[in-house]
Amino acid sequence: MRSRPHRPDSPFVNGQLALRASATNDRRERAGGAYVLYWMQATHRFEDNWALRLATLEANRLGTPLLVYQGLDPTYEHASDRVHSFILENARELAERAGRVGLAYQFHLRRRRNDDRRVVDRLAGRAVMVVTDALPTAGIAGRTARFAARAECRVVAVDSYGVAPAASFAKEEWAARTIRPKLAAIRDHCLERVRDEPPRVAMPPRLLRDLEFDPLDLAHADIAREVAACEIDHTVPRVSAVASGLTAARARLAAFCRGALADYDERRADPADADGSSRMSPYLHFGQVSAAEVARTAIAHGPAGAVAKFLEELLTWRELALNFCTRNPRFGTLHALPPWVHDTMRAHVKDRREAHYSLAQLERGETAYPLWNAAQRELVETGAIHNVMRMYWGKSVILWTRTYSEAFRHLVHLNNKWGLDGRDPGSYGGIQWCFGKFDRPWGERPVWGTIRSMSIPRAYKKFDAAEYERRWLGTTAAQGTLGV
Ligand SMILES: Cc1cc2nc3c(=O)[nH]c(=O)nc-3n(C[C@H](O)[C@H](O)[C@H](O)COP(=O)(O)OP(=O)(O)OC[C@H]3O[C@@H](n4cnc5c(N)ncnc54)[C@H](O)[C@@H]3O)c2cc1C
Repeated sequence: MRSRPHRPDSPFVNGQLALRASATNDRRERAGGAYVLYWMQATHRFEDNWALRLATLEANRLGTPLLVYQGLDPTYEHASDRVHSFILENARELAERAGRVGLAYQFHLRRRRNDDRRVVDRLAGRAVMVVTDALPTAGIAGRTARFAARAECRVVAVDSYGVAPAASFAKEEWAARTIRPKLAAIRDHCLERVRDEPPRVAMPPRLLRDLEFDPLDLAHADIAREVAACEIDHTVPRVSAVASGLTAARARLAAFCRGALADYDERRADPADADGSSRMSPYLHFGQVSAAEVARTAIAHGPAGAVAKFLEELLTWRELALNFCTRNPRFGTLHALPPWVHDTMRAHVKDRREAHYSLAQLERGETAYPLWNAAQRELVETGAIHNVMRMYWGKSVILWTRTYSEAFRHLVHLNNKWGLDGRDPGSYGGIQWCFGKFDRPWGERPVWGTIRSMSIPRAYKKFDAAEYERRWLGTTAAQGTLGV
């Protein structure tokens, strides 16, 4: 079913809910339902969460309690210790805070594929209506559509990803230059602080005890043991260097604002400077902190020029990626690229490649280029790659595979399997950018055609690549194997 705007009777918050919320089925509210259900899928926070705001307004309008439900199961793509741990550790913090902010929050961990399925369907079976998150990536849009088709009450999906609602931009934007002025026109309004209010009707404890599933006791759960018991990929380990949750996100953001923000333009260009950028992408991907909070904090701290550069990434590029994935259903394939890229790829597909590496060799960082291997190691160890190196990392694979589509598939696999920030609109925006998306034709070269070229040897002239290699490969630089 095509989604259409959901128009709650409650007053719209700041006008934004009207743009952010869409009905995903034709069902009505269930008369006599016990609660409004907020199914938390993509926005793992209580603050600045537009879906939670709508669910609260609707619960208040209908005079029912609000149930916040989050489930984690082993079936999502690339389910691993890395992602499971990050989600569960944040969930523990949410569970601790829920009571203080007046929310009833329940979490279900489905450890094995055959365990208790479709808890959310049973919860929806008693709800007046369901509110959930909208996100075009990470399988969320498809899961929501299937759920909405089964549900027997109204299901509304709400977009909380960006500072601006995705629906502010009616068509697919061509490039940063086309979305930038549109964002600038609405930015201040979208950044206005909106107070989060708790629901008026408290959840009766009796109802909570009677929810027909076995919620995870997050306060006492041994998260490492729980993760070990799940039917997921245990070869992609937890990233111990990146603490999960809003408290950790805010601490990292504060350190960035005190430190590198003032010199962001310069420091972000140096991959050897680990603190030169915010490292907010995992927190933003899982919605543990809102982009609006990150933007407001930066604006409050930094000199205007540096903040403008930071917002160019956080707003322009991030929301361009969201617009792309929202408006172009083929974002996960090369078909999403503009005609000039297809023309040039056709003309150069048979060009001789300088090397060929299999997916396994790339994954293990076994190329002849220590700098590339270092970037792969950064991804494997930390769940992200510095932005500048991520561009060299992505572009290089085009030179090392038989076809452009093979390169694309390998990049999506590596990025989404190992990235804590993977499966995000930014993942597809970034990878597609390597193939010419959002860009223009450049001078013609072998293999690249007119796609902008970027190759590892040139990186040595741009920044202290040797220092970056030392950091990630240490003494094993010559061999460069990652042991994955
Ligand atoms: C091949 C390739 C793959 C990428 N994969 C991902 C990914 O899986 N997930 C992801 O979030 N980003 C991805 N990016 C975009 C970018 O590299 C990361 O967002 C950035 O490096 C994250 O580091 P940071 O948080 O320190 O960024 P900062 O420089 O501090 O920027 C702040 C925030 O702005 C956003 N941002 C910054 N640059 C971009 C960009 N080019 N496009 C979209 N958003 C941006 C991110 O949310 C980031 O956290 C990819 C880029 C490329 C070229």
